[in-house]
Amino acid sequence: MAKLFGTEVQCEVVDRCLQVFGGYGYMMEYPIARMYAAARVQKIYGGTNEIMRELIGRSL
Ligand SMILES: Cc1cc2nc3c(=O)[nH]c(=O)nc-3n(C[C@H](O)[C@H](O)[C@H](O)COP(=O)(O)OP(=O)(O)OC[C@H]3O[C@@H](n4cnc5c(N)ncnc54)[C@H](O)[C@@H]3O)c2cc1C
Repeated sequence: MAKLFGTEVQCEVVDRCLQVFGGYGYMMEYPIARMYAAARVQKIYGGTNEIMRELIGRSL
């Protein structure tokens, strides 16, 4: 539950931060773009968020 919640919030926050930079936010030369990529993978490795939802659903 913590991983699911944490990664969803992380991606939401970094997405909004990236938006502030406009087009620069999408260029890998800028740290914000790399932060976005680093955040996005959190929802994939260590168990994807879809699988996290499955596991949480099964435990209810
Ligand atoms: C940078 C990186 C580092 C990694 N490091 C490690 C490591 O050190 N050790 C290790 O063991 N693994 C590692 N992995 C593998 C990682 O754990 C897997 O990528 C992850 O578990 C997802 O598996 P998959 O890529 O095969 O995606 P798939 O299982 O093919 O899933 C593809 C998509 O389908 C969705 N999906 C799959 N099944 C369901 C379902 N039943 N219901 C709904 N949606 C579903 C997934 O959520 C995903 O969005 C790493 C991956 C990356 C990208």
